Amino acid sequence: MKYYSTNNPKHQVSLPEAVIKGLAPDQGLYLPERIPVLPQQLIESFSSKSFQEIGYDVIEALFSEDLTNEQIRALVDHTLVFDAPIVEVEKGVYSLELFHGPTLAFKDFGARFCSKLMSMLTAKTDQKVYVLVATSGDTGSAVANGFLGVEGVEVIVLFPKGKVSKLQEKQFTTLGQNITAIEVEGVFDDCQTLVKQAFLDPELNKSLLLTSANSINIARWIPQCLYYFYAYSRLPKDGKKIVFSVPSGNFGNLAAGVLAWKMGLPIDHFVAATNLNKIVPDYLKGLPFEAKASVPTVSNSMDVGNPSNFPRLQALYDGNEELFRKNVKGFFYTDAQTIEAIQDVKPKGYTLDPHGAVGYLGLKDFMAENPGYVGVFLETAHPGKFRDVVEDALNEKLVLPDRLAAFLEGEKKVLSMGKRFEEFKGFLGGL
Ligand SMILES: *Cc1c(COP(=O)(O)O)cnc(C)c1O
Repeated sequence: MKYYSTNNPKHQVSLPEAVIKGLAPDQGLYLPERIPVLPQQLIESFSSKSFQEIGYDVIEALFSEDLTNEQIRALVDHTLVFDAPIVEVEKGVYSLELFHGPTLAFKDFGARFCSKLMSMLTAKTDQKVYVLVATSGDTGSAVANGFLGVEGVEVIVLFPKGKVSKLQEKQFTTLGQNITAIEVEGVFDDCQTLVKQAFLDPELNKSLLLTSANSINIARWIPQCLYYFYAYSRLPKDGKKIVFSVPSGNFGNLAAGVLAWKMGLPIDHFVAATNLNKIVPDYLKGLPFEAKASVPTVSNSMDVGNPSNFPRLQALYDGNEELFRKNVKGFFYTDAQTIEAIQDVKPKGYTLDPHGAVGYLGLKDFMAENPGYVGVFLETAHPGKFRDVVEDALNEKLVLPDRLAAFLEGEKKVLSMGKRFEEFKGFLGGL
């Protein structure tokens, strides 16, 4: 299977190249040249299969020309080591809990798959791969934990000193092994600039195989379609139509849902739910797509002013704006509404995190306007990860899951650096 760039469909590369490059040289996003459609009979058989078995069937349809059956199994087995249960919050309203992985956010699925696939694709080269990530929090923890202990891969996480929550910081500074954390005297943008400069530096790229594991990489994006298939297989449908509501920032998660739909999963509608960074809901209402500076909100992992997966969504709809706008309904919410949703849902026996709360609100508004649906919202993080906001909203202490509390015990180990590129280059050159 070839992968093409959204900026130029004629620019096609192999799977290894797409994964190792991440972004196409023309800055486009890679997409499979052809999206396989699974027979409905196979999809219906998923109700009696495990998450892993569903994973083999779906990944096989996409990767069978490029990977052996053993590799596909190893990849899926490595990724799906935790469950993604659906929990009924109200009649006909389900939470798809994507936070049961090691760093308690849905990014664990993509990060684990990406790390395993990268190590498979580079196994023959015996050249070490260096994954550089700049993070403002969640990406660093998911990528570091996803790549922890993976042979042949070294991960270097750059983060702005003092600007990442203590809990998030602990999740990537205490791991050791093949993970190095660098604390940069600067802000997130400085970290991102250092990483970009490294990718562009001819000298470094001659001696080191540098790559990125950010969310536009197909190896992080594609596996996110798996939990849509799984959720569908476990959902009591009562003959009703199905809608998925996705709390969104860079729109990789929603685009993966659209991929599942194109592969034949009978999803009737999607809801694009955002905070005040509402570029996509505005577009869906008929305005032109216009990137803006991001505004800070309580659902901070979705504070994105220029959603990087938007071109991928357009390509999945074959440039058909009418169909895109018909199939995906946009809603956005203020911080006050988000907090109110956390408070309103609590007495029903469910604790939302601020991102899931946005997804819940979008789902409820869609269902109020469109009767006859069963609805699922994606709960993208454990409420304990956004403890301050949730504890404030509910005026009570949260009990942290053991694996989250365990990170707090670890000892922080970091290198400190200024924001000058020469210093970072000197460090990389010495590897
Ligand atoms: C990254 C993130 C999102 C946004 O996902 P996209 O794929 O970028 O739209 C939502 N919720 C949480 C908790 C996240 O970490």
